[in-house]
Amino acid sequence: MTLGHPHSERYWHEVETFDRERLRELQLEKLRTQLVHVGENSVFYRRQWADAGFDPRSVRSLDDIRSLPTVSKTDYVQSLREDAPWGSMLAAPLRDVARVHFSSGTTSAPTPVCWTNADLDRWSDLYARSAYSQGIRADDIYQVLFGFAWFVGGLGVANAYARIGATVIPGGSSETERQIDVMETYGTTAVSGTPSFMLHLAETAERLGRPLSGNRVGRIQVGGEPGGAVPETRAFIERAWNAKVFDGYGSLEFQPIAWECEEQSGGHIAEDFALAEVVDGETGEPVPDGTPGVLVLTHLDKQATPFVRWWTGDVVVRDSQPCACGRTLSRLPGGVRGRADDMLVIRGVNLFPSAVEAVVRKFPGASGEHQIVLDDSMKDPNTGFATGIKLRAELPADDADAAHRLENAIRAELTVRCVVEAVPYGSIERSTHKSKRVVTA
Ligand SMILES: [Zn+2]
Repeated sequence: MTLGHPHSERYWHEVETFDRERLRELQLEKLRTQLVHVGENSVFYRRQWADAGFDPRSVRSLDDIRSLPTVSKTDYVQSLREDAPWGSMLAAPLRDVARVHFSSGTTSAPTPVCWTNADLDRWSDLYARSAYSQGIRADDIYQVLFGFAWFVGGLGVANAYARIGATVIPGGSSETERQIDVMETYGTTAVSGTPSFMLHLAETAERLGRPLSGNRVGRIQVGGEPGGAVPETRAFIERAWNAKVFDGYGSLEFQPIAWECEEQSGGHIAEDFALAEVVDGETGEPVPDGTPGVLVLTHLDKQATPFVRWWTGDVVVRDSQPCACGRTLSRLPGGVRGRADDMLVIRGVNLFPSAVEAVVRKFPGASGEHQIVLDDSMKDPNTGFATGIKLRAELPADDADAAHRLENAIRAELTVRCVVEAVPYGSIERSTHKSKRVVTA
């Protein structure tokens, strides 16, 4: 089919409903072509694969790439340094690079990621496909509420909705009141933006006495942060806007990864664009559907800055059963559940230190400073698995029962067993950068 036209009334592209076997065949064919391209054009991968004794022409199955090391953000930053400013992963000549976006660079120098015209065309088509699956059609009036400068969000979605034929208003992510004016005046029916900006718009509109529930916006595509997959946050935005919220998941390196369809039951992975592995964070071995693991992605057709076995660090749960919408592309129910480097597993319950922190922070009398201590006293002696957590927390010295109440609070809110060790105020080491919240005894 030609890019830019829907395949049917319901589906943008026929690949969305391929049976899994046919999809895997397509993935293998694309993977082989892609790896040859990468091996021929990227200095970084050519060297890495030579070291690993890997010949891209020898690939016979999708599992063959598991012999390759994963590539992380640290590797990417390193590759940028060794061949500044574009990096040794670049696999297209600079004259073919048509666009570059940058990371926000909160902890390091902003990292560039490049697209050729073919890459941009593909990106737009994938986003158009996701918007189409959410019910967007040519008669929609669509206001982009993602930022445009540097960030991948704004231009990415603007081009995609235009491809469907919707009327696109590139609003951006500031000038809150003007955005509300435009929505009302022009009858905007669909928007995209971060969950934070959607909440801020709703709050502002409420304060101005012009609640958003009264306008025509019926569909909101959110992304850029995990809020859209958090049920409480989603419900809040849906109520405030009187509209459906669709969670989206992408990154600078992969645009897009997964977007929800009208069923709102977890984003469909763009599996014809990115080969997805879900692996155990410790062993790197694949985990079955339904089990949390780290998402590892390989581009199947990206020319300019391709990633092979990109370690996203994001913990997801995959479901490869067909969706009620008829699409067969795997889904990620619950979106991104957290970051791999942070996650603990206690009796099968995934526990992120941030959740413990939330309980400690609001506990009366606690300073907020705390550490999760991993030691043998909280492990099943037979299996070695953790059965609970030990929590060291600064609590008031004159309140002997505080530790007990904090234990109960953790158990009630997080459903994990907890033993609290109360320590005096000021006894846990402070950090000006990132606090070490998990320690091994
Ligand atoms: Zn679906």
